[in-house]
Amino acid sequence: MRIGKQFNIGGWLVLSSFLLWAASQAQVGRTLVLDDFESPDSAKKWEGSVQIAQEQPSHGAHSALVRLESGHSQISATKLPQDWRNYDRLLFDIYCDRESMSMAALRIYDSIDANSGGPNGDDYYEARGKILVQKGWNHVEVKLQPLRAASDERDLSLEHIRRLVISADRARLPWTFYLDNVRLVAGQEGSETASRAQAQDPVTVIENGRFTMRQGVRAEDVPESAAVSALRKEAQKQSDLLRETIRAAQLQGLETIYQERHLVTADIGLQIRPRLAWYNNDDKKREMFSYVAESCRRGRRELEDTMQSIVRLVEADDTQVSEPLIRPLPRLKGRPIRGSYFLDEHNEPMMVVSLHSPSQMLQRFFATPYQHIESYTVGGGSRWSIYDSPVYGAFQKWPDTRRVGWDGWCGHLIRDVNSMAGKKRENIVICLESPHIKEAVKEYIQTNIPKFHANPELLYDIEAYELMYICYCERSQRMFHDWLGKKYGGVERANDKWSTTYKSFGEVVPPPVKDSRPLPDTNRAIWYDWARFNQDRFTDYLLWVRGLIREIDPQTPLTAGGSSSMLAGRTGTTGIDEERIVNELDDVILHEGGESTLGLDLQLALSEKKKPLADPEMYLDSVEHLLPHFLHGKSVVQLFHWPAQPSSELHGLTASSLAHSWKYPLADVNELLRTALDVRRLNNEIAAFSEVPAEVAILYSQTATLQLPPEMLTWLTTPYLAELEKTYTASQYLDAKVTFVTERQISKGWLNRYKLLLVPGARNIPSEVFEKISEYAARGGRVLIVPESFLGDEYNRPADYLARLGITVRETQRPKPGGLGAMVQGYDQSFSQAATFADDAPQQLVAAGAEGFGPIGELKTGGVRQSFEAKSNAKVLSRYSHGEPAIVQMPAGKGIIYYSGSLLEERSYARLLDAVFRQAGVTRPVRMRRVGGGGAHNIEARFAPLGSRKLLYVVNYNPAPARLGVDAAPGRISHLLDLRDGIEIRGAEVTIPPQQTAIYELF
Ligand SMILES: [Zn+2]
Repeated sequence: MRIGKQFNIGGWLVLSSFLLWAASQAQVGRTLVLDDFESPDSAKKWEGSVQIAQEQPSHGAHSALVRLESGHSQISATKLPQDWRNYDRLLFDIYCDRESMSMAALRIYDSIDANSGGPNGDDYYEARGKILVQKGWNHVEVKLQPLRAASDERDLSLEHIRRLVISADRARLPWTFYLDNVRLVAGQEGSETASRAQAQDPVTVIENGRFTMRQGVRAEDVPESAAVSALRKEAQKQSDLLRETIRAAQLQGLETIYQERHLVTADIGLQIRPRLAWYNNDDKKREMFSYVAESCRRGRRELEDTMQSIVRLVEADDTQVSEPLIRPLPRLKGRPIRGSYFLDEHNEPMMVVSLHSPSQMLQRFFATPYQHIESYTVGGGSRWSIYDSPVYGAFQKWPDTRRVGWDGWCGHLIRDVNSMAGKKRENIVICLESPHIKEAVKEYIQTNIPKFHANPELLYDIEAYELMYICYCERSQRMFHDWLGKKYGGVERANDKWSTTYKSFGEVVPPPVKDSRPLPDTNRAIWYDWARFNQDRFTDYLLWVRGLIREIDPQTPLTAGGSSSMLAGRTGTTGIDEERIVNELDDVILHEGGESTLGLDLQLALSEKKKPLADPEMYLDSVEHLLPHFLHGKSVVQLFHWPAQPSSELHGLTASSLAHSWKYPLADVNELLRTALDVRRLNNEIAAFSEVPAEVAILYSQTATLQLPPEMLTWLTTPYLAELEKTYTASQYLDAKVTFVTERQISKGWLNRYKLLLVPGARNIPSEVFEKISEYAARGGRVLIVPESFLGDEYNRPADYLARLGITVRETQRPKPGGLGAMVQGYDQSFSQAATFADDAPQQLVAAGAEGFGPIGELKTGGVRQSFEAKSNAKVLSRYSHGEPAIVQMPAGKGIIYYSGSLLEERSYARLLDAVFRQAGVTRPVRMRRVGGGGAHNIEARFAPLGSRKLLYVVNYNPAPARLGVDAAPGRISHLLDLRDGIEIRGAEVTIPPQQTAIYELF
């Protein structure tokens, strides 16, 4: 299918035009071969896995077989010739067999200590994100004059090149490739040292921070087989015919917008991609041209059928001109908000999808990219604009403007030496307590907000996002002391919680950090208060910024936050209290992310009032995720991205370019355009799904995200968050909406809204929250608890919560360190409970035959296991193989507590949840069933009423089509109408293609 299969590797052809292109001068220049891997001793010059091989030489008879693997992901040479002064470029070739794209990186050192990279660790030349390796040969050329160090402080000394390193950049490991003909060249290279190459081989030329990647000849001169040329002609013909048919249909007043999308993919497939090195080969072109011909033909025939009234238009009053199928969006500024949506001029929920793109033509399908702005009002400038901001002047003038005590990332406030953008490498990391900074921020706002908000398409303004802030300056410390005074009244009460003996709050020193986390012996109770304080003061600061903007513009919806940090270990050092931001600051809720819907469901759940949810920079790992995000309640999206040209800085940016990336086949681009139209056409139907209330809630314990062992603050996730995610996924395919409930909401009595509360290993919670959960159960609620929930309070003091529920844990077995990776060491062992490490092989739990729990069958454990005793009136639902209870159900007042002593593997957990949902009477008007048996795993279905209409959406997240039975109460479904393609389905069975979402109306 892909690049290179048709290569005849033995029959090399040296193309003179390629050499001409590569040459910069007419006369033959000089070449110094660094290593051609022809001698058996060559391999000894390299560290890492390098073997001399007879396969795939680009020059001579041998090459180097390189194997990179985890922990050994580079090779390096220190014994090569060191004087590179008389050459203007370094060349080498990589041959790779792998079908998928990989990236390699290159480093060159000239320092004596060629391992450390100098005092700052970046005193070397580096090409990262610039060497794309596709299947077949890849030729790389690095311009040497000059070689700028990564520190940007000097050029490398070409007289003494000490070390050359080639490593895996973005590549799946282990990775094996062939390397050959590493050489230096001045002027035009002679044919005796030049590598064998074919015209279509990609050649990457790197010139310090920039590169070009193209083929050895111009795109049109790359040989093309007769069959592919014929396909190209056919595709061009079909595209032309469609264009003409669209024009004629428009003459008749017929709707053509859906068919027009095929012309977009035709232009990409015929004009844009065949000019790119990773697409311009027979295999890729065969795929693209076939797709273009087929999709254009299909689109044309749809229009022809309508022109002939084989497909009839919906009957309508023909004295009235009806509205277009996709109504143009109104000017976005000032659109009113009702509930979860901005409203259009018909007072209907508005679905806005725009592209991060300069293209005007694409706005036929997408909303304007001017829909939002990030005003950078939090820091008074961005890493790009700071030099024009009064904040920069203040920062240079006043010493109190500098952040104190934090050694991590600047959190976009405002830039550190590692920030991308601009030539200057400078630390501008600000303190927000400084009155000079605040004065400058105010001035920035007063100058810029009127300009920014004059934009007639501005739907909302982001104060700033992906933020984090922590500062230890004297003002911060005084504010902390005041905050403690307010919280505790007297210091004795705090001493009691912290186990300390302070005489006054003035003595309390905020726990310091090193390497972005608290020190190992930090007092975790004080740290908890410090983390909470830091969240409060940063939220208050964000509100202060909001107030300043409001003085100038009382209307434009504002937002901030939207950080993913609440789902990562680092949340305690970020100062981000997403729940306060959502409720106190946001007019619009922010969420950034294009994969799982967990993050957006959580953001929505934090909000006590319904508000629209927007994604200003949605990166679609795959196109299939766009529609589910809308069905979960996202309604304003800007997709990242559709740039005018591929990046010449980082291939990673091209990888996400919808037009250019090797990741998105034309069918995906086409599906994206279709989805963008569908969400606008089906706006009311889509909005109906977000109106359905959830009856099941997962506990989002902010305390459990903040009260952590110090080392976990730099982890991507924590045991609690991993269990939270598993709980979400396990409940996702059970045909019912599941939401989150926060500790603040529980304190306000919100549990009454739910039939079931799921507690995902929330280790620490405040006692008042536990009391509310306990009361909820007593009044008839159901609570499902898994280990290691409810062990301590927010100060990390042991709590008797479990005992009060009737559970006594005798022993906790954790998987052996190393068994489940880093997570295992992460179990918080700060309480002296009996704990052992056990084999992490999953155990089978045997169903105990309790009524209503028959279908759960055998369940597989995965992770922590406890042996425990339960109250005498507990009913056993599952047992360990040795007979002890593993999952029990206990009456608690009018309600029920379910306790599982084991974490369960996801699909087992889903089966348990399915039974518990049934017991709890969770409303599920429609159930999905796989025709021919087997669970409907990875099938997400939700039902929603819309007036008297009955709607159902089904997402098939599987890589294969799914044939599904739609089960409802007898007599409820006679047929379905697929609202996306207009096709009626008799009976109640549907087939959903892989990775597709269908929206049905049920009759
Ligand atoms: Zn400060």
